[in-house]
Amino acid sequence: MDEFALIEEIIVPRAGYRADVVLGIGDDGAVVIPPLGEELVIVADTLVAGVHFPPQLAPADIGYRAVAVNLSDIAAMGAEPRWATLALTLPEANRDWLTEFMRGMHEALAAHSVQLIGGDTTRGPLTMTVQIIGSVPRGQALTRHGARPGDAIFVSGSLGDAAAGLSILQREPATSEDEVALIQRFARPTARVALGQALRGIASSCIDISDGLLGDLGHIATRSACSAMVDAAKVPASAALLAGHTAAVARDLGLTGGDDYELCFTLPAASLVPHEDQLRRQFDLYRIGTMTDTAAAGEVVVMDDAGKPMQISRRGYRHF
Ligand code: ADP
Ligand code: MG
Repeated sequence: MDEFALIEEIIVPRAGYRADVVLGIGDDGAVVIPPLGEELVIVADTLVAGVHFPPQLAPADIGYRAVAVNLSDIAAMGAEPRWATLALTLPEANRDWLTEFMRGMHEALAAHSVQLIGGDTTRGPLTMTVQIIGSVPRGQALTRHGARPGDAIFVSGSLGDAAAGLSILQREPATSEDEVALIQRFARPTARVALGQALRGIASSCIDISDGLLGDLGHIATRSACSAMVDAAKVPASAALLAGHTAAVARDLGLTGGDDYELCFTLPAASLVPHEDQLRRQFDLYRIGTMTDTAAAGEVVVMDDAGKPMQISRRGYRHF
């Protein structure tokens, strides 16, 4: 089976439903209608087999994940996702693998009404680059650079699950429901797209946690030219994580483990009273610390239960 047969049989038939797509897959380029009065937000992420996911991962999960990590960047920008492209490099023309991969991909795309509008297919080591194009009302994109000392720091869900799930996936088949749940958080991350949009005009900064809380919050601190203080005891850990790990390991994974794709964002004091309760009614939010000006710009200081600064060796999780 050659490249063109694969595109014709497997990729083309699933595309096509957004009214703002003038020309989708099948021509030299896609043509879309940008939403009036909005700015476009463009993200892309590459996944390389053996680097960003282990060979054990099911093809449908690989497809789902390739989309979800991009939706997470769109979420962190406060944008609405609209269109996607896929640059796919395959070692062989394997119909079954590609069918499963596309099934997972379309599951993640359809959940947010995103249309696949084009891409490229080549032969080589298994690699995929998904690009998603979304939009925000003019001037309203969330950024990493707006946090100020005194702003409250929040995360949108439990951290450390995906890092634990990845090591279980690499080591052995899951032996309990908790292990299955942890693997699922790595294989099928939930992008917090609705939360990102709800934070427009409210949050002073936002980032998605792909490389670990300390590293990613450090990016907010660096870009915002201030420091951050995190209360380790407030970083949420799931019951599934705590079931199979000591509290100390769970805490370490929560601070430095990557791949959870929760949002980390800051709310200025002026936003807390009018907006925090309203956000909490719709979303899980955990207040984990405060932006500060007491350490060097870009520093993230972690406090233990006794309020003493902890030494944390790893900043951000490294795959393999
Ligand atoms: P060209 O040679 O002009 O780049 P191709 O033959 O590579 O065109 O692709 C034909 C059509 O199929 C194009 O519309 C392209 O966007 C689409 N396409 C190719 N590969 C993919 C893919 N992996 N995912 C989505 N669309 C694809
Ligand atoms: Mg081509």
